[in-house]
Amino acid sequence: MRKLLLSLTALAAVMLFACSEAKSDESAHERDVFAMDTFMTMKAYGSGAEKALGSAEDRIHELEDELSVTEQDSDISRINSAGGEAVSVSADTALLVEAGVSYWQETAGALDISVYPVLAEWGFTTGEYHVPDAETIARLLEKVNAGAVEVGADTVQIPADSMIDLGALAKGYTGDEIMAIFRDNGVKSAMISLGGNVQALGSKPDGSDWRVGIKDPFTPDTNMCVVSISDKAVVTSGNYERYFTGDDGTVYWHIIDPKDGYPADNGLVSVTVIGDSGLRCDALSTALFVAGTDEAQTYLREHTDVDAVLVTDDGRLLYTDGIADKLENVSSMPAEVIARD
Ligand code: AMP
Ligand code: MG
Repeated sequence: MRKLLLSLTALAAVMLFACSEAKSDESAHERDVFAMDTFMTMKAYGSGAEKALGSAEDRIHELEDELSVTEQDSDISRINSAGGEAVSVSADTALLVEAGVSYWQETAGALDISVYPVLAEWGFTTGEYHVPDAETIARLLEKVNAGAVEVGADTVQIPADSMIDLGALAKGYTGDEIMAIFRDNGVKSAMISLGGNVQALGSKPDGSDWRVGIKDPFTPDTNMCVVSISDKAVVTSGNYERYFTGDDGTVYWHIIDPKDGYPADNGLVSVTVIGDSGLRCDALSTALFVAGTDEAQTYLREHTDVDAVLVTDDGRLLYTDGIADKLENVSSMPAEVIARD
């Protein structure tokens, strides 16, 4: 009897432990942050989640203070106003500027962090939009050349009359940094959304994939497809994210083609890149948007470490084979698979 009682007590203790374990692992901890001009949401599970979310929030603000093109004391503002001198910067800034220069090379100039003076002239930083005249664009384009950006161990130097902006990469890197903080705090399941950047750590607490909706660029309040992923970044660049309509009725958007200084209009209205690195996905979503329908597919055939979902301006959905059985097309757009070896 005594033995039975003991083992019953032990069983109860184990059950209690199991319950409290399951409970703490399943409870979602959430945090909303407004930073980098973006409404950000984070959800993490497990006992380390609350602490991880606090550290993630601090890190987001730290990165914003370093990388913002509008905050006066940021590394980027100091680089842009240095009159051609080398500027001491944080390790984050040096890493991202270096990445910007590498992606400029890798994407044949489609991603160019020095396109900023042109972008600013269109009013995309201030919201005071206008269509610049052709001479102004031509004059500003002369300064656009990521090849002239020099990165040292902890310095960045750009020509006196040029300016850089990490808007195409910063949120992707921020996502990677948040994932690292979550991991360091023992979090095994988490999901964040930083505007068009979604990133997942592990799978859902029940072991199933996260389901990430991708907006329909023609009706951005609805999804066009849902992808099932775990441990991946899903980053979208779309023409619907920031745009204005000119007096001539034309819609102009915030992703600029460094070849001509006008909003990139090379056949694509939305590009989503899915891969392990938020930074890589972010750089490529912008670059492939600029590269356009044909060049983006060529790039994707040559770089199979990432998957992508492209939407053409004539309403076709193109996606790479690696994501084919994880993608559900909920739109009426016809879909084609980009086959790779
Ligand atoms: P994303 O939303 O990641 O596609 O980044 C778009 C942002 O990147 C814009 O708001 C600009 O700040 C910046 N940008 C626009 N065009 C380019 C370009 N061709 N290369 C690099 N950055 C760009
Ligand atoms: Mg990007």
